[in-house]
Amino acid sequence: MAEQVKTLRLVLGDQINHNHSWFKSVDANVVYLMAEMRQETNYVKHHIQKVIAFFASMRNFAKTLERNGHRVIYYSINQSESKLTLAELISNEMQSNGCTHFEYQLPDEYRLDEQLKSICSQLKGTFKSYCTEHFYTQRTEVLDFFEGKKRFLMENFYRMMRKKHNILMVGDAPVGGQWNFDADNRKKYKGEIPVPPALFFNPNIETILKEIETAQIETIGTVNANSFAWPTSRTECLEQLEYFCTYLLPYFGTYEDAMHTEEKNLFHSRLSFAMNTKMLSPKEVVEKVEQAFINQDFPISIAQAEGFIRQVLGWREYVRGIYWKEMPNYASLNYLENKSKLPNFYWTADTKMNCMKQSLKQSLNDAYAHHIQRLMVIGNFSLLTQMHPDEVDAWYLGVYIDAIEWVELPNTRGMSQYADGGIMATKPYVSSGSYINKMSNYCSNCHYKVKEKWTDDACPFNSLYWDFIIEKKPYFANNQRMSMMLRMQEKMKPEDIEKIQLRAHYIKENLDKI
Ligand code: FAD
Ligand code: SF4
Repeated sequence: MAEQVKTLRLVLGDQINHNHSWFKSVDANVVYLMAEMRQETNYVKHHIQKVIAFFASMRNFAKTLERNGHRVIYYSINQSESKLTLAELISNEMQSNGCTHFEYQLPDEYRLDEQLKSICSQLKGTFKSYCTEHFYTQRTEVLDFFEGKKRFLMENFYRMMRKKHNILMVGDAPVGGQWNFDADNRKKYKGEIPVPPALFFNPNIETILKEIETAQIETIGTVNANSFAWPTSRTECLEQLEYFCTYLLPYFGTYEDAMHTEEKNLFHSRLSFAMNTKMLSPKEVVEKVEQAFINQDFPISIAQAEGFIRQVLGWREYVRGIYWKEMPNYASLNYLENKSKLPNFYWTADTKMNCMKQSLKQSLNDAYAHHIQRLMVIGNFSLLTQMHPDEVDAWYLGVYIDAIEWVELPNTRGMSQYADGGIMATKPYVSSGSYINKMSNYCSNCHYKVKEKWTDDACPFNSLYWDFIIEKKPYFANNQRMSMMLRMQEKMKPEDIEKIQLRAHYIKENLDKI
């Protein structure tokens, strides 16, 4: 009788997909391998909550698999195996478990994809890779969709996705008669609607925290065991989704771009960690939101449901497609040739600029800030002060709970820092203080005056904005969408330009005093 082939299957920390076909049946000849590895904790300095949340989710998943009868080998961070390279770990486990066949799910990061390809090319045994069965699209679907096109407009991709997956559609037409309700989603929050409190979970984080300390993993930010807000099991993720659809979705779109000192999360879902680890699939999230809109158990307007679905069905899949289309070159693009180093206050939040203080403090304390804080406050300031995109990327990749390179890189280097020269955004996301003032209550409690342009107490964003336009003018010579700003700048009086640049240069040279 032919001997059964024994298979080793690798499960990465962001492949916690309970519904993957791998786990549908139990096979005595399959061994699952999961490991908390130094190569993953150390390739960038992560937020402490991110490391805890990943380890807790992985441990919960391993236990679920075991409960369901699967054979699982799990190495935690203080076991010596955590220090091995991935190649050594796989080779050792193949040998010690008598496996002659290796299987893995396609990683979402280029770095790991290359590593696994190289490992497999030298493997003593056969191997096979599988789809993660998570995303709506395959890696190359965005590339195929934009084949031959000059511009990769997200909106076009999104409409195709709505039609293809029949989401919020009536026949061939979009529900509500338009594809996009973005114009309805720009309200400032003034406390008129109470924001439901964040959902807290209570995993045994003290144990994991001690283990991380013992392992001497360097991390950033803080954690509070009594208010850990990240779901780390499938049950908790489903609870978070239910909570969002019931309490937050009715106002999600309306206040999507708003920022407020007392309401850090407003009506955002905080579902990115659950989705990026694959504990929730985008399909179940989108369908649940669509169903909540159809059922109307709570009044939910189309602007709220469409606004949310666009983020997941549109932006999230699009960003992933751009990543696979453009990597590996994308990670080193620096179109605007920015060179500065991040100031120390990115790690302390110790700055007099209230918008930066609030957004940084929240990022460091909670491993979370919503997209406008990431884009129009921290990202805006980083671009206006001409930070090197490598520095900005490393910070974003480390600090946020949901930061995995496939989604962090196009958003940060592309969308926010314009380092890709316009692949993701048709023009740079920069603004003076007036946008921040329009969308938040930050300016009313700031050391600086948002209406002043170049005085010592003038909002730094104001002079930095025009200084950026002046200094980066040559890079935008052929950009139609920048032409109005360039013309406005050209009409400025020379004495005003001088005052603006004097103030902007002082700020750039004294960032830690600002
Ligand atoms: P919500 O506001 O409730 O949105 C719902 C969901 O839509 C999110 O959970 C997310 O899955 C998806 N989504 C929304 N916007 C985007 C987007 N631009 N790209 C991809 N998915 C999106 N998102 C990450 O998941 N990881 C990152 O590392 C990351 N880095 C970012 C860096 C910058 C500079 C910017 C501007 C955005 C970044 N985003 C990133 C996108 C977005 O800010 C986060 O997905 C969102 O803030 C997560 O919070 P939430 O779950 O409450 O989102
Ligand atoms: Fe930020 Fe300027 Fe407003 Fe202060 S005045 S909060 S620095 S935008």
